[in-house]
Amino acid sequence: MTKVLYNNNIQEEVLKTKKIAIIGYGSQGHAHALNLKESGFNVVVGLRPGKSWDKAVQDGVDVQTVAEATAQADVVMVLLPDESQPKIYEESIKPNLQPGNALAFAHGFNIHFNQVVPPEGVDVFLVAPKGPGHLVRRTFEEGAGVPALYAVYQDATGKAKDVALAYAKGVGAGRAGILETSFQEETETDLFGEQAVLCGGLTSLVKAGFETLTEAGYQPEVAYFECLHELKLIVDLMYEGGLEGMRYSISDTAQWGDFVSGPRVVNEETKARMKEVLHDIQTGDFAKGWILENQVNRPQFTAINAKENTHQIEKVGRELRELMPFVKKQQNSKKEVVAN
Ligand code: NDP
Ligand code: MG
Ligand code: MG
Repeated sequence: MTKVLYNNNIQEEVLKTKKIAIIGYGSQGHAHALNLKESGFNVVVGLRPGKSWDKAVQDGVDVQTVAEATAQADVVMVLLPDESQPKIYEESIKPNLQPGNALAFAHGFNIHFNQVVPPEGVDVFLVAPKGPGHLVRRTFEEGAGVPALYAVYQDATGKAKDVALAYAKGVGAGRAGILETSFQEETETDLFGEQAVLCGGLTSLVKAGFETLTEAGYQPEVAYFECLHELKLIVDLMYEGGLEGMRYSISDTAQWGDFVSGPRVVNEETKARMKEVLHDIQTGDFAKGWILENQVNRPQFTAINAKENTHQIEKVGRELRELMPFVKKQQNSKKEVVAN
């Protein structure tokens, strides 16, 4: 098994003497800033005036502009939306980086696809919590943590790995497990997971199931419960005990149906399509499409999003959830997702 590191394997002194700038105070930003601060590190947050700025001030953290925060820090963690990072990096971060500083990320996209090209004299590392920012914060407050991946892309000081590990420990990941990866592996697997399984694969599976039932004349409400609502219960069982644990809890009829029908729905043909998706990620074709889409202000993203939101499963779901007050929308639920 790959080596998993925990708190007792990690020295944090190397980071204790440094100042850490957290650029961005959204899902990941607020969690990193507050967890690091409470772990005893020296943190400044870099932002523009606005909603996040006000929240950070309210939370009692030191807030500066992105340029000012970068200029006074030794470690600069970039937690801006991936698609805005290149511009803000060029304008406000790069001019304020000093040789010997570290530039850090929570996802490898911009480094791996060369949208951010760091100068030679700085360390570049990644600490990617494998969970949404609000869980990174909540579990830390509870005394636990979310596992994280770390990677070193550039080691100018000879200390990049030590700093990355100390950082990961500071956000609480050393309580749950820290694994080494590369920028390439983190970027490609993260994109593949969210496209083929977690987000894309799942939403398409749910919609296809719902449409199959409603097109056959079954009530949309019943189809919603079967194909969407019950998913959470199944996923929770898988999370706790893997596929075996889930299968232990379902009826033998459901398990037999799982064995004989699952592979008819998701089959070799589906896997061939998954391989194509992975290929487009590996060649940079997916990244190119997404970068260009952002450059022209997201016409397709906006159109598809609007169309998706009018699907019958969404309409019936909104009505049914109104009647189930216990199915509460979490605060900040937009970011309460496994993928990022
Ligand atoms: P969010 O969208 O939640 O937050 C972005 C933050 O950046 C906000 O505080 C926003 O502030 C700020 N910001 C945006 N534009 C600017 C600007 N021009 N100048 C200054 N600040 C700005 O991002 P996430 O936390 O989701 O993602 C951050 C990184 O973490 C990404 O690389 C992502 O891939 C990665 N990641 C995210 C995960 C998640 O759980 N969401 C999980 C693992 C990794 P404002 O209020 O002013 O807009
Ligand atoms: Mg059933
Ligand atoms: Mg992602």
